[in-house]
Amino acid sequence: MNNQVQKLNKMKQEVSKKLPALTKVLRGTFIEWYQVCARKDCKCHKSKKYQHGPFYRVSYSKGNRSYHIYVPLKGRKKIEKWVNNYNKIWQGIEDISELNIKLIRAGISK
Ligand SMILES: [Zn+2]
Repeated sequence: MNNQVQKLNKMKQEVSKKLPALTKVLRGTFIEWYQVCARKDCKCHKSKKYQHGPFYRVSYSKGNRSYHIYVPLKGRKKIEKWVNNYNKIWQGIEDISELNIKLIRAGISK
């Protein structure tokens, strides 16, 4: 193996090592939101800074429809991480694909 190939293989290992566990992913968008309540005299109607929240939900699509699921406050950090992990794994796939293209160009087919 030449230096270029060794270097590219090492880079792939590095990318692969940093990937989150596949069991800790959620495909969707993590959303923080605030709410105005039904009580007309509540101060939340006066200014955005008095609105209730933050609350959290994840929106996701399945087929041609989109859905959302409310995130319990207690699980917020974990679930937000699952969403970030999903994106990290896709980025890792992109990075490894790019490195594999470079490997092919370097003359390696295995
Ligand atoms: Zn209110």
